[in-house]
Amino acid sequence: MELQHTQPWLLITCLLSLFFFSSSLDSPQCNKGEKPRARGVRFIKSEGNTKEAYNVYLKKPEKNSSSWGDVILSAGALSSPQILMLSGIGPLKQLQRFNISVVANLTEVGKNMQDNPAISLWVDSKPKWRVPDTPQVTGITDNYKIIIESIVVPTSPNLTRVSIAGKLAFPSSRGELELKDKDPRANPLVKFNYLSEEEDMEACVNVQRKVEQVSTSRWVTFYLGNDRNGLKKLGEGESREYCKKNVRTFYHYHGGCTLGSVVDKDYKVIEVSGVRVVDGSTLVESPGTNPMATLMMLGRYQGLKIIEERLSSS
Ligand SMILES: Cc1cc2nc3c(=O)[nH]c(=O)nc-3n(C[C@H](O)[C@H](O)[C@H](O)COP(=O)(O)OP(=O)(O)OC[C@H]3O[C@@H](n4cnc5c(N)ncnc54)[C@H](O)[C@@H]3O)c2cc1C
Repeated sequence: MELQHTQPWLLITCLLSLFFFSSSLDSPQCNKGEKPRARGVRFIKSEGNTKEAYNVYLKKPEKNSSSWGDVILSAGALSSPQILMLSGIGPLKQLQRFNISVVANLTEVGKNMQDNPAISLWVDSKPKWRVPDTPQVTGITDNYKIIIESIVVPTSPNLTRVSIAGKLAFPSSRGELELKDKDPRANPLVKFNYLSEEEDMEACVNVQRKVEQVSTSRWVTFYLGNDRNGLKKLGEGESREYCKKNVRTFYHYHGGCTLGSVVDKDYKVIEVSGVRVVDGSTLVESPGTNPMATLMMLGRYQGLKIIEERLSSS
């Protein structure tokens, strides 16, 4: 990539700041039948105003090469679909509502948003000071559908509580991400529609029961006491109500630029050239356990493939 401005402070700012694609996807200049091609990215400083934007351009192909390279978008499930839409790639209605010049009417951008529903219980009867801790052990049950983890959470500077949470893997409910504003710093509007499918509700009741079972198990009660803060065993109807009221995120949200709908098998955005998305927004399903390792492997694998592709075209 070539930087239009080469002062070192800009590079630092570039890393820290919010960026979005330039509208320089030059569709008007492309030949008939050719897809619009990305030429680079435009970014602003996070705290700056949108009028002070900087452009970074992809390097033109060198002699004996036809490769322009690609812009690789890895802003995550909550930002990659938003950035594509701000760049004019997304559902026509969305783009028109915000007066964004249309580069490609790609209806599936922002669709298939999913978040794994989770239920958690505080399991310590006497909260005390412990070192806050991330999950050390994960239990997987029922055909990989339920993942149970425990975590030590700080609740005040000198008090922690222990929670046991269950995540529902492979939910069916799907939601949508839409733009709320044309300013790239504004959060998009995201709906996950947790438990809107009956099979997810039934599975959530199982998660709730499993978490309850673990929290009242011999070893958990041995270490943490058996007073569940008045929590009693719930009946079927109560469990459903509990799920409705207490469903929360496990922070494994994904989708919005899913494989096969927005990106092709090489993670290239369909309908345009020179843009790839490589991150959790491309996942059709999140892995049963924690997704980060899978996503890092995806990044490395796609990176190696892109290098191979570039070497073979030069
Ligand atoms: C609180 C929390 C705890 C988690 N714990 C675990 C765990 O223990 N194990 C596990 O496997 N997974 C965990 N996850 C899930 C995991 O972090 C994500 O699934 C994974 O990081 C997603 O990777 P990604 O590349 O899609 O996006 P991200 O890792 O979110 O990367 C996106 C990057 O893009 C940047 N960005 C976004 N928008 C813009 C913009 N407009 N301009 C410039 N930069 C932008 C973001 O700042 C971020 O650095 C956790 C997630 C959260 C939120």
